[in-house]
Amino acid sequence: MTTTTIELSGICKAFGDLEVLRGVDLSVERGEVVVLMGPSGSGKTTLVRCMNLLEEPDAGHVRICDCAFECGTRRDRRGRAKLMQRARQRTGMVFQQFNLFPHMTALGNVIEGPHQVRKLPMPEAVALGERLLERVGLADKRDVHPSRLSGGQKQRVAIARALAMDPEAVLFDEPTSALDPELHAEVLEVIQELAADGMTMVIVTHETHFAREVANRIVFMDGGVVVEEASPETFFTRPSKERVRSFLRLVD
Ligand code: ADP
Repeated sequence: MTTTTIELSGICKAFGDLEVLRGVDLSVERGEVVVLMGPSGSGKTTLVRCMNLLEEPDAGHVRICDCAFECGTRRDRRGRAKLMQRARQRTGMVFQQFNLFPHMTALGNVIEGPHQVRKLPMPEAVALGERLLERVGLADKRDVHPSRLSGGQKQRVAIARALAMDPEAVLFDEPTSALDPELHAEVLEVIQELAADGMTMVIVTHETHFAREVANRIVFMDGGVVVEEASPETFFTRPSKERVRSFLRLVD
């Protein structure tokens, strides 16, 4: 059986005349933590959105476990819509701006997916939600609405919500960049615990210290292509490309 959880090949995506992804190949193995870095506008967010087909690539192949999707054809629209839905259910997504439902409590946010989409009966969904809130250290915020939570707490609820769908992988799009610096640690700690538990993750971040600690592999993008892939040790101490060296001089 394959141990590859996510496989992308030849991914291309344009918005109008702007070619944002220009043939990206990337595989993520089960239990691996891949950190995507690169300058602003290099296509990192678009790439993670293509991984779970929130954004449909113009060309290429996306495979998430057993769910394979050929991009850019117009055939079989209904079959494709079903595949896209399956791909989204297999990957949890954590956004920069949390995207919580404001009218629901922390628990309500976490159990919405398992109850509505996975069709778990309410008592089971609640028990799962409580377990996950406990896991992200927010058991006591069960009945609190997002407006009463700090940014770090909101992001931890968003992580619990992503886990509630029992995903094969979790994708994070700059999970700390909307937070004040003093709130970064609590979110990074939860992500580190997930990594220790063997969760497959792809994380877009500018946090070099965190990337160094949590990543198994760093993928550096520039201009819509992968420029360098390396272990954190190699990436930060002896990157082979001048483009990476100049980027690191700016962010460090
Ligand atoms: P990064 O995450 O590396 O900063 P993005 O993937 O967010 O890069 O964006 C790459 C480029 O694509 C940017 O120039 C951005 O403005 C553009 N872009 C992203 N999403 C859209 C969209 N939905 N419509 C038009 N342009 C977009």
